[in-house]
Amino acid sequence: MPESTAKATRCSQRGKLSMSCLLRPHWKALTLAFIAVLGETLSDILEPWPIKIVIDNILQSKKLPDWLGGFVSHTFGHEKLPILNFAVLAVVAIAVVGAASSYVEKYLTTSVSQWVTHDLRRTLYNHIQRLSLSEHDKAQTGDLITRVTSDIGAIQDFINSALLGMLVNSLTLVGMIGVMLYINWRFTLIALSIAPALFVVVYTFTRRIKQASRAVRKKESELVSVVQEVLTSVRVVKAFAREDFEVSRFESQSLENVETALRARSIKAKLSPIVEVLVAIGTCLVLGYGARLALRGELSAGILIVFLLYLGRMYKPMRELSKMSDAVSKAIVGFERIQEVLQVEARVRDLPRARRAPRFKGKIEFEHVNFAYDEKPPVLNDITFKLEAGKVAAIVGPSGAGKTTIISLIPRFYDPQSGRIKIDGVDIREYRLKSLREQISFVLQDTLLFHASIWDNIAYGKPDAEPQKVVRAAKLANAHEFIEKMPEGYATMLGERGMTLSGGQRQRIAIARAIIRDTPILILDEPTSGLDSSSEQAVIEALDRLMEGRTSIVVAHHLSSIRHADVIFVIKDSELVEEGTHEELLAAGGVYSDLYRIQTCESAGELKEQPTAS
Ligand code: ADP
Repeated sequence: MPESTAKATRCSQRGKLSMSCLLRPHWKALTLAFIAVLGETLSDILEPWPIKIVIDNILQSKKLPDWLGGFVSHTFGHEKLPILNFAVLAVVAIAVVGAASSYVEKYLTTSVSQWVTHDLRRTLYNHIQRLSLSEHDKAQTGDLITRVTSDIGAIQDFINSALLGMLVNSLTLVGMIGVMLYINWRFTLIALSIAPALFVVVYTFTRRIKQASRAVRKKESELVSVVQEVLTSVRVVKAFAREDFEVSRFESQSLENVETALRARSIKAKLSPIVEVLVAIGTCLVLGYGARLALRGELSAGILIVFLLYLGRMYKPMRELSKMSDAVSKAIVGFERIQEVLQVEARVRDLPRARRAPRFKGKIEFEHVNFAYDEKPPVLNDITFKLEAGKVAAIVGPSGAGKTTIISLIPRFYDPQSGRIKIDGVDIREYRLKSLREQISFVLQDTLLFHASIWDNIAYGKPDAEPQKVVRAAKLANAHEFIEKMPEGYATMLGERGMTLSGGQRQRIAIARAIIRDTPILILDEPTSGLDSSSEQAVIEALDRLMEGRTSIVVAHHLSSIRHADVIFVIKDSELVEEGTHEELLAAGGVYSDLYRIQTCESAGELKEQPTAS
C-alpha cells in the first residue's frame, strides 16, 4: 500500500506522529467496520428483548408496545403462539446479525491494524536508516530493534482488540443505559451510583499500568541489546572464554525483566477484581431495592429479572473497557517510544540548496577543520591539508590520534563543528549526500560481509553490475582464484559476517567491491592490519591495482606499507604535525622518523626472535 505509506511518512514529517493521521488513509475500511460495530451493539442490546416479550406478552398476557404490535400482528398474527414464534425467530435473527457484524468488524480491524503497522514499521525503519552515524553511536541497537518490533506490535494489538472494541463497548454502554432508563429510571440511577468510583479506579490504575508498561519495555530493550551485542561479538566472547560471564549477565538482565513484568502484572491483576467487587455492589443495590419493591407488589418479577439481565450486560462493557486499559497503556507507551525515535533529526543531512555532485576529479582539501564527538573533548584541531586529484596520501600517527575521524568526515559520516572540507574546490555540504557517497569507496580494517552469495556481496555497492564485471573485479582483487575453488563458486553463500572466509579473503572481497564501484575517491582504513604476510602480499597487490588513478587516502599502522605514498600526513594529539614524503619526513627527524625508527626496531626484534620461537 505505497500510497498510505507515503501518507504515514508525511504524518511523521510534520514533527509529531498522530494516530488519526495514521488511520486516515484507512477511513473507508474503518467506516465499514464502524457500521459492523453498530450491528454488534444493536444485537447485544436486543438480545434479552425476546425474553422480555415471552415473559410480559405471552406468560403475563400484556400487550406489545404499539410500534412493535402493529408489525407483529401484520406479519405473524395477534394470537399468543404467533407472538411466541416471532420472539423465538427474533433470538436467531439477532444472533445472525451479531455474528455477521462481528466477522466483518474483526476482519476489517485486523486488516487496518496490519496496514497501519506496516506503514509505521516502514516509516520508522526509513527514519532509522537515514539517521547519521552520530545518532547511531548513541543508540543501542537492541533498543531500536525493540522499537521496530514490540512497540509497533503493541499498537497493532491496540487497533486489533481495543480501538473499535472501545467504541463498541462505549456504544453498548450508552445503549444499555438508554434501555434501562426506559425500563426503570430509578433502578438505573441506583445501578449507576457505582460509576464514579469505577471511573476513579480505572483512571488511577491506567496511569500506574502505563508507568509499569514503560518500565517493562525499557527492560525488554535492554535484554535484546545484551543478546544483540553478545551475538555480534561472539568471537570476542569465545576468545576471552567469557561465556559463563555472559550467561550470568544475561540471566541477571532476564531476572530484572521478570521482576519488572511481575510488578506490572500485579498492578494489572488488581484492577479486574476491584471492578468485579464494585459491579457486585451495584447489582446488590438493585437486587435488594428491587426485591423489596416486588415483595410489596409495586414491581413485577418479570421486570426485575429483565432489568437484572440488562444490568449484567451494562456492566460487561464497563469491565471490558477497564480490561482494555492495559492494551491502551501499552499502545500509548509504544507510540511514545516510536515518537522519540522519529523526533531525532539526522544531524548530517542535505542542505536545502544541496545539488547533485558531478563526477569528481578527486582533489580533497581540509580547511581549518575542528571536530569533536558530541560534547566530548576535541578530536581534530585546526586540520588543514590539500591532496591533489589522483594522488595517494597516507595518514599516520599514534592510536587514538584522530586518523579514522579524519577519513569519516570526507563522506560526511559526521560534519565538523567548524572549518570546511572541499572536493574539487567545492564545500562537500553543497552536494547531496547520496551523490557524494556514491563517489567514495571504502576498504576498512574489518570487512563486513552480508548473508548473501559472493555475487551479491561483491556487487553490494552496485547491485546492477553484470556478472562479467563482478568476475573481472574479483580477478583484479586477487579473489577470483579462491572463489573458483569454493563449493559453489560465486554462488556460495557467506555467513552472517562472512565467517567462512579468512581475513585476507574478506579484504579481497572488499577490494573487489570497491573496484566494481569505480569511484574517483578511495578510503582505506588499515586494510592490511592483522593479515599474515602471504595474504598481506595478495591484498597489497590488489590494493595497488585498485588505487591506480584514484585519489586515495590510506590510514596505516605499518609505515613500511606507505613508503611510496605521494604525501604522508602525521597526526598527533588531534593536530596535523608533519606533512611530506617518506624521505622528507625521515630527513626532518620529527614524529614520523621516531615512529619509523620504533617500528623498524620492533620488526628487527621480531625477526631476531622468530628462529628461537619456531
Ligand atoms: P585513530 O584512528 O587515530 O586511532 P580515532 O579517530 O578512531 O583515532 O579516534 C580519535 C578519538 O576519538 C579517540 O579518543 C576515540 O576514543 C574518539 N572516538 C572515536 N570514535 C568515536 C565515537 N564514535 N564517539 C565518541 N568518541 C569517539
